[in-house]
Amino acid sequence: MLGTLRKIVQEVNAAKDLKAALSIIVQRVREAMGSHVCSVYLLDPETERFVLMATEGLNKRSIGKVSMAPNEGLVGLVGTREEPLNLEDAASHPRFRYFAETGEERYASFLGAPIIHHRRVMGVLVVQQKERRQFDEGEEAFLVTMSAQLAGVIAHAEATGSIRGLGRQGKGIQEARFIGVPGAPGAAVGTALVVLPPADLEVVPDKTIDNVEAELALFEQALEAVRADMRALSDRLVNQMRREERALFDVYLMMLDDSALGGEVRKVIRTGQWAQGALRQVVNDHVKRFELMDDAYLSERASDVKDLGRRLLAYLQQAHQQTLVYHDNTILVSEELSPSMLAEVPEGKLAGLVSVLGSGNSHVAILARAMGVPTVMGVVDLPYSKVDGIQLIVDGYRGEIITNPGDVLREQYCALVEQERQLSQGLDVQRGLPCETPDGHRVPLWVNTGLLADVVRAQERGAEGVGLYRTEVPFMVKDRFPSEKEQLAIYREQLQAFHPLPVTMRTLDVGGDKPLSYFPIKEANPFLGWRGIRVTLDHPEIFLVQTRAMLKASEGLNNLRILLPMISGTHEVDEALHLIHRAWGEVRDEGTDVEMPPVGVMVEIPAAVYQIRELARQVDFISVGSNDLTQYLLAVDRNNPRVSDLYDYLHPAVLEALQRVVTGAHAEGRPVSICGEMAGDPAAAVLLMAMGYDSLSMNATNLPKVKWMLRQVPLSTARELLARVRSIDNPQVIHSVLQLSLSKLGLTRMINPAAAAIQPDGPGPGPGLGVHR
Ligand code: PEP
Ligand code: MG
Repeated sequence: MLGTLRKIVQEVNAAKDLKAALSIIVQRVREAMGSHVCSVYLLDPETERFVLMATEGLNKRSIGKVSMAPNEGLVGLVGTREEPLNLEDAASHPRFRYFAETGEERYASFLGAPIIHHRRVMGVLVVQQKERRQFDEGEEAFLVTMSAQLAGVIAHAEATGSIRGLGRQGKGIQEARFIGVPGAPGAAVGTALVVLPPADLEVVPDKTIDNVEAELALFEQALEAVRADMRALSDRLVNQMRREERALFDVYLMMLDDSALGGEVRKVIRTGQWAQGALRQVVNDHVKRFELMDDAYLSERASDVKDLGRRLLAYLQQAHQQTLVYHDNTILVSEELSPSMLAEVPEGKLAGLVSVLGSGNSHVAILARAMGVPTVMGVVDLPYSKVDGIQLIVDGYRGEIITNPGDVLREQYCALVEQERQLSQGLDVQRGLPCETPDGHRVPLWVNTGLLADVVRAQERGAEGVGLYRTEVPFMVKDRFPSEKEQLAIYREQLQAFHPLPVTMRTLDVGGDKPLSYFPIKEANPFLGWRGIRVTLDHPEIFLVQTRAMLKASEGLNNLRILLPMISGTHEVDEALHLIHRAWGEVRDEGTDVEMPPVGVMVEIPAAVYQIRELARQVDFISVGSNDLTQYLLAVDRNNPRVSDLYDYLHPAVLEALQRVVTGAHAEGRPVSICGEMAGDPAAAVLLMAMGYDSLSMNATNLPKVKWMLRQVPLSTARELLARVRSIDNPQVIHSVLQLSLSKLGLTRMINPAAAAIQPDGPGPGPGLGVHR
């Protein structure tokens, strides 16, 4: 059974569109089950009816015509009950409804299984048999397993269709939402531009072209360039290779001929495919054929074809790069965005970023936050190669994108973008004002930094210090560990830029989802593994070099604070303090005159919440990393879009933990700040202030909004609101109460703007909007 299942899924996966996928499903399932009929009904989101989309056995003319409401027929019953239905005599069931056009009167028995993808009923898979008989348990299990596996495949095929502007019936533009994780806050509406990593044939997208002749000419140039390279290479190797060995280059040259690769690629270009897509198709076909050959010599030729393909692609990409059209609101889309791709975009053209792979901690997301470009990462279900040139909305607040948005939704988002623009202009005036509530309570607002670009933005926005300098960022942009001297220079720049304001430097926090290319860590459970302080305590040489660099960098400035990440117990703090003192002693022995800086602990692991008093006693200050604390308290991977709706820092358990930390740290006389993303959410900031947090540290983009909010809300009001929120046990209700209360105070425009301006199920996307995660 497993083998049959796998084969069907593989075949369906390779189908070119939804229609083809469904047709394979009904054929193969009917064969595998030996039934007389197999049909797929899909729920049409617009009409909310189950429509017959494919069948083997029923009258094919009824495809697309026969449909039923959820309260009609056996298919409707399977769909609404979300359970399989196995009937020996379908006609005697009270819900049976007869559709003359299908010719189904001949079939007595009925077995239906719902097709459900991420809680959404997508349709129903049905098999029918002429004779009256109950399908046995094995058959029922097969159909249920089949439909569970197919749900994802159908969702993907549907997503691809909607990207191309096709509805289920193959017509009409359809907007679709794809869930990822927030990379950088903000919203953008623009045109997608798919960028590819250099010369990777596998990820070349299909793209139709109008000017076939121009495309043929491009390909011709690439062919000529590769031919010239081959000849030059062959000549260069005259003295190092024997003649017969160099014959390989002649083989290559022959492969480029009209009768081989060259001619085939031209043929595909003439069908309207761009040269890169045509090259991918032809090379893949050849490679597959060669790889299947038993002859070792011939199967080796597969890699020659691949190599030639890559060489041709590199030239085509070069030409393409020069002709890339950057629209005014370019939304850069790639399988894995790299910082260099960002750098290519002409100034003023970049509106948003979308990456299929990566997380909020990826280098490109860090860069995007520093630049203030709305970004969504980890949109794993986006058939990204198909989106070039289409309209796209990037919602960096929610971490989702919408393809082919309808007019209503587009207007809502355009209004939001404009509102944000005006808002940030209006907020500039408060730059020099303190973050002080109307009843006189001061809350210093700090920034999180990593790159030098953050420094400039932080200063423009009136930050009062750095609450978190992520030192892993300068480590991530290198191809080896930076030396003590290099680190010293980088840290000095940060300390100097903010002097005399405090700069909180976190010791290296790698592992988990923050890899260093030159220090790979392979683990089954990276978030529960070797990360943060665990790595650096195991490598005291790395820790000592880093703390020595920090201490030396602060000479004459003395605005350094050192922060320890991922602390799970007092023993780790003891060890880290011991090393810091050692480094301090060493740099002083070397003649550097620095004070011992304040040292703090990050509370990111639930254990630290329960040991807050003991930990606070060991150090000078506490800083909560609410990103990780939320992930560990709720057991929800912070970078997994599949569970992103469970990741919620307003969950009552998280709020309880946050309150405990403040109370515990204050009982020991230690100040507490918070540096997770939550601190940059203006509504959450009101609650944090009410809890007693002494300072909030956030990305520079959100700082003015948080300041504006806290300058409107008296501490006494915030405390009342917190008390109300703390009595609620349901996260969703907490969100609603918070939003409602702040809007009653007239403060809606600053609450998570996308949430306030755009209702997920409002008139825009509507209940019919396809969601892909
Ligand atoms: C956090 O976990 O909240 C935090 C600030 O650290 P990072 O996001 O860098 O893991
Ligand atoms: Mg963290």
